[in-house]
Amino acid sequence: MQVEASTIEHDKLLLSRLQLFRNVDLDNAALFDLLNQCEYRQLAKDEVVLSTEAENHYLYILLKGRLAIQLNEHEDIPLATVEPGECVGEMSIIDSRVPSALVSALEETQVLVIEQDILWRMVSVSHEIARNLLYIMSERVRYSNLVIADSLEMQRKYQRFASTDALTGLHNRGWMDDAFDREIKRSERDELPLALIMIDVDRFKNYNDEYGHLAGDQVLITVADAIRSPLRPNDMVARFGGEEFAVLLPETTVSNAEIIAERLRDHVAKADPGVLDSRRLPAVTISLGIAGRQPGYSLDMMIAAADVAMYHAKRNGRNRVEVAANVSLDH
Ligand code: GH3
Ligand code: MG
Ligand code: MG
Repeated sequence: MQVEASTIEHDKLLLSRLQLFRNVDLDNAALFDLLNQCEYRQLAKDEVVLSTEAENHYLYILLKGRLAIQLNEHEDIPLATVEPGECVGEMSIIDSRVPSALVSALEETQVLVIEQDILWRMVSVSHEIARNLLYIMSERVRYSNLVIADSLEMQRKYQRFASTDALTGLHNRGWMDDAFDREIKRSERDELPLALIMIDVDRFKNYNDEYGHLAGDQVLITVADAIRSPLRPNDMVARFGGEEFAVLLPETTVSNAEIIAERLRDHVAKADPGVLDSRRLPAVTISLGIAGRQPGYSLDMMIAAADVAMYHAKRNGRNRVEVAANVSLDH
C-alpha cells in the first residue's frame, strides 16, 4: 500500500461528505489533531483491505473508487460493493474478531485509514461521530450487510429474509413469492384481471464471456432500472433470479399487459449501460412472456404459463413479447 502525505486540512469539504463525519464540527481542535494522525492510502485493483484470515485494527473510509465484499476469494460475484463515503472495518474493530468477509479494491481506490485507537478517541471527542458510527452499524444490521455474517449459512439465511436484491435494488424472489401470491389471491377474490410478465435477458452468458462479470452486473442494474422506471406505483417488480425478472400488473388485462411489455422491451433495448474500464458497454435485449390470471391460478401456475410464453419469445428470435394465451400450458 502506498502511503501519501497527509493533506487532511485541505479536505474538510470532502470529509464532511463522509458518513462518519456527517454533521461533525471539523474545526474542533482535538478532532483535528486526531485527523492528522490518519492517513490516505491508494489501493491498487484487487488489493485486499480486509481478509477473513487477519485481525483488523483499522476503519477504512472510501474516498474514491469501489470496494467489493466477498465471502471468500472463490466467489466471483461480489456480495456487495462499498461506494465512496461509506466505510468498512468497523464491525471487526468493535467485536475484536477477524472480519467475516473479504474486502478488496474493484479498481484503483483511495481510502482514509483510521487506526482503532484513534477511532475510539474520535468517538470520545465528538458525539456526532459516535452517533454516526451507531447509525452506520445499525444500517449494516438493517440491510443484513454481509460484513456481519459469520458464516455462509448465516449469510444465506439473511438473504432469504431480506426483501431486497443487493445488486439491482429490486425486490428479491423471497419478497416476490409472498407479495405476488397475495396480489393474485386478492385479484381472484375481487374478480379483477391481473397479468404476470416474465423477463429474461437475451444471450447474457455470451455478454459475460465477452465483457466480463462486472460488466454483466452493471448491465443487470441498467436493465432493472429500465424495467422499473416506466411502471406505475401499483405494479410490482422483482428480480426472479440471475438475469430474470418478474413484473406483476394488478388490474391489467392481457392486452394492456402486452402494451406495457412492449414498452419495457423497447426501454431496455435503448438503455445505455455506460462505460466500464473505458470500454463502452452495448445495450442488451430481453425476451418477455405474459400470462393472464385464470380462475384458480396459483403464482406457480402463472409463472409456468408466462415462462412457456417467454421461451416462445426466445425461439421466435428473442427481443420480443409473447402471450401465454397463444401457447398451451400442460398442468
Ligand atoms: P438466452 O437468450 O437463451 O436467455 O441465453 P442466456 O445466455 O441469457 O441464457 P443462460 O441461462 O444460459 O445464461 C444466463 C447467464 O446469466 C449465465 C450467468 O452467468 C449469467 N448471470 C446470472 N446471474 C448473473 C449476475 O448476477 N451477474 C452476472 N454478471 N451474470 C449473471
Ligand atoms: Mg435465464
Ligand atoms: Mg437469458
